[in-house]
Amino acid sequence: MSDVHAVRLGRLRAKMAEAGVPALYTTHPYNRRYLTGYTGEDHLPNESAGAVLVTADAAYLHVGRLNAAQARAEAPEYAVVDYFLRADGPKQVAELAAKHGITRLGFEEDSILFATHTMLTETLPGTALVPVGKLVAGLRDVKDAAEIESLRRAQAVTVAAFVAVSGRIAAGMTERQVAWELEKAVRDAGGEGLAFPTIVGAGRNGARPHHGASDYAIREGEPIVIDMGATVDGYCGDLTRTVIVGEPDATFRRVYDIVLRAKRHVEEVARPGMKGHEIDAAARDVIAEAGYGDQFIHTLGHGIGLQVHEGPGARVNGEDVFAPGMTLTVEPGVYLEDWGGVRIEDMVVFTEGGVEILVPAPILDV
Ligand code: ZN
Ligand code: ZN
Repeated sequence: MSDVHAVRLGRLRAKMAEAGVPALYTTHPYNRRYLTGYTGEDHLPNESAGAVLVTADAAYLHVGRLNAAQARAEAPEYAVVDYFLRADGPKQVAELAAKHGITRLGFEEDSILFATHTMLTETLPGTALVPVGKLVAGLRDVKDAAEIESLRRAQAVTVAAFVAVSGRIAAGMTERQVAWELEKAVRDAGGEGLAFPTIVGAGRNGARPHHGASDYAIREGEPIVIDMGATVDGYCGDLTRTVIVGEPDATFRRVYDIVLRAKRHVEEVARPGMKGHEIDAAARDVIAEAGYGDQFIHTLGHGIGLQVHEGPGARVNGEDVFAPGMTLTVEPGVYLEDWGGVRIEDMVVFTEGGVEILVPAPILDV
């Protein structure tokens, strides 16, 4: 993997030079992993597994001593510097910055702790701290071949787990039981873990897009929204299917058809060069024309990679411009409070001429 990380380091330095930032400091867990290959996990925001300091000619990974061997093995492009007591960390970063004569230090304002920023200000009085916005996150928007492969594997595990369990869902099972069966199936299929807590929303629970999984017992004839994702190599899968035990009613058939048409329309028309709001509108217009515009209560989709939600996004007013190699979830939904919800979601990657579903999954024929 070190070739990949050498290339990323080169791209980062080019961006830094462009932005006039001679050095960059970050503790963002996913940017750190993307840049270095180091997989150390942050348990809480104030328990960082490491900081990255990159200059034009040096690259450091700063970790607690207990993670140093792992960091050296996983991040050969970086000089690993360790600390024993957390309080010593800041001093060491300051010394490194001083050694390289850094007078302008870039930081990521949407992930740094206020306490860390204060520490840097106090220990580097002669250094200007410069917010860099999406400088690193922007590098991650276009996926390289290795990332697409990892995403494909994560989604293949997700789809396999869904297929293994969906046919066994029966009336009387609770949402939580179904979620647990899905999660076991993810592990059985080779998943490292879950990209996010599994959603199983039966009946009216399905009308809340971020419902988790409760002790509600599934009944025949009501929609069941299943939204799940496995991780492989740290990359996330994300799949939603709406299923049913027994016979669908007229509402189910009508709403399911609308949502499916909206999804397929996006997959037909989406192509590089389009903006997020145009892609969102491709689905929203289909649903609005069918009379359910007010019931599509979330954005169409999000980029996906090391993080389940990352850039670029397809949302109303979204100005992100899509390019080949970018990923997007296409997940239109319709939610009726007194009845339930229907959402259908696949992951696509932008190609030169359109989009490709990463791993196709079964869809109901209603
Ligand atoms: Zn999802
Ligand atoms: Zn999603």
